[in-house]
Amino acid sequence: MENCIFCKIANKTASSKIVYEDSDIIAFEDTTPSAPVHILIIPKEHIQSIDHLEGNHAGVISKIIFVAKKIAQDKGLSGYKLIFNVGREGGQIVDHLHLHLLGGWKS
Ligand code: 5GP
Ligand code: ZN
Repeated sequence: MENCIFCKIANKTASSKIVYEDSDIIAFEDTTPSAPVHILIIPKEHIQSIDHLEGNHAGVISKIIFVAKKIAQDKGLSGYKLIFNVGREGGQIVDHLHLHLLGGWKS
């Protein structure tokens, strides 16, 4: 979607520090980290938020969670938080669905 920063990151017209990529998903470091490790995992398809999911998105949402687990394991995190902010009242600022992976406090 035009003017969506995460679509631009997904299609490489905006730069980011990519830590994982496949045909459906891209994961990159958050520019303003809230933890020693702060990765954002997104579908390449523009989906506004969890509130905008439809039945055909079940596969990609499941994959996002498995990618979070893989990145956490690759980074040696013994524990971590996974957060979806949903809508303005839920703290969502960027209107392209993303999963926050936060960790690294002790590892
Ligand atoms: P939200 O509050 O929408 O759940 O989180 C959006 C996150 O995206 C924030 O943690 C913010 O730091 C991050 N962010 C915003 N713009 C950019 C950007 O251009 N590049 C990267 N890598 N992260 C961004
Ligand atoms: Zn987008």
